Amino acid sequence: MKARYHVLMSLTLAIPFAVAGSYWGSLMCILSGIFIDVDHQLDFYLLFGRFTLSMTELSEGLKEHNKPTFFCPLHSWEFIILLALLSYWHSMFIGTVVSVTAHLIADIIFNKREELDLLRFFFLYRARSELKLYEKFRRNYADKE
Ligand SMILES: [Zn+2]
Repeated sequence: MKARYHVLMSLTLAIPFAVAGSYWGSLMCILSGIFIDVDHQLDFYLLFGRFTLSMTELSEGLKEHNKPTFFCPLHSWEFIILLALLSYWHSMFIGTVVSVTAHLIADIIFNKREELDLLRFFFLYRARSELKLYEKFRRNYADKE
């Protein structure tokens, strides 16, 4: 899903929190829904050996090279479970849980891959099953340069 739609969705989801007087929940809803994509930096670094500040390079660079898989540790059910546990500690995490869950579902729906495999949104599943694919892709990319 494009960044501008994530911004719009996060702002919309933050409204009920603000109306209910949960300003921390509202703020965290906005921030987490937008900045969760920072974890694409990890994938970019693993593939290209450097970080980038360019959003275009970050999103298009990964797509353009037909990247076989992704790690994105924050785009995972485990992260949402952790946030849900943290929401018992502080209510601002409720906004984070709502926003990150909506972000992940939107990514699942709009960033369609060949087939829908919900297991792929478990970080541990990805880390275990796709690490070899990642290494192979990285070696091929390094050979071409
Ligand atoms: Zn995302």
